[in-house]
Amino acid sequence: MPPTLVRTPTDFRRLCDDARARGERVGVVPTMGALHAGHLALVSHAKRHAKLVAVTIFVNPTQFGPGEDLDRYPRDLAGDMAKLAEADVVFAPEATAMYPSGDDTRVRVPTLASHLCGPFRPGHFEGVATVVTKLLALTGPCVAVFGRKDYQQLAIIRRLVTDLFLPTEVLGHPIVREPDGLAMSSRNAYLSKEERARALGLSRGLARAEELWAHGERNAKTLRDAVRDEVSRGATSIDYVEVADPESLTPLPDGALAGGRPLVAIACRIGTTRLLDNRVLGEPDEGA
Ligand code: AMP
Repeated sequence: MPPTLVRTPTDFRRLCDDARARGERVGVVPTMGALHAGHLALVSHAKRHAKLVAVTIFVNPTQFGPGEDLDRYPRDLAGDMAKLAEADVVFAPEATAMYPSGDDTRVRVPTLASHLCGPFRPGHFEGVATVVTKLLALTGPCVAVFGRKDYQQLAIIRRLVTDLFLPTEVLGHPIVREPDGLAMSSRNAYLSKEERARALGLSRGLARAEELWAHGERNAKTLRDAVRDEVSRGATSIDYVEVADPESLTPLPDGALAGGRPLVAIACRIGTTRLLDNRVLGEPDEGA
């Protein structure tokens, strides 16, 4: 059975409330659509934790900066619906339904947003935090699944759910990769064949860091330089390669020794396409 498509916040809230009234647990998977196997793995995960699973599909304008890819972001609601056999509800609102006239509230998580992607995408995480808060408020008590592909986003969402006492259990899902290691992303559709090959530098760089880590390398600069070396072979430009604390996201300075399990995070451009990848060293790469 295809999922039920709803377009308005009121209808979406009603379906979630009705499910809870029947004693069902509600799961939600927020997405921007152009669904791939990574998104579908999140839906399967949600289905293991909830009876009614809703997928939200919304290309959120407030998380795109001027000159970013809001207008050309891939949109394919019919194709997405066809892929969502496991979901029960799809909520695909218009922007005016999420941000009606008079809308004036924004959610900021400034410290976590100040690292990694924050300085390169001013306002991005405020847009993400705001729309996710709205979506979770509409869903009500639920389990919400997010991918570790967007590691910083997940950390910010965990923080805001705690700080705002939202009745949401947040689950993180491992990164789902193509067989050759490329992290799945809707933006991979922008890559030419040649760029697609160059994009493998990200996962190769992370694999190299993991290899060094396994051999006892703990120097943050050595780990970072090794990753940067690999990424720079194919990248048009690098926003950052950081070795950071996995909780606070604070980058480790040169000379620091990485203790615990450090996060290695990359953002770079291949052609005009901005790609992200990350790995927590010493953890099994479950998503591979
Ligand atoms: P997006 O549609 O890009 O906003 O992503 C929607 C959700 O899917 C976010 O929680 C992402 O982190 C997650 N996601 C996207 N790509 C992947 C992937 N390759 N592996 C795991 N989760 C992913």
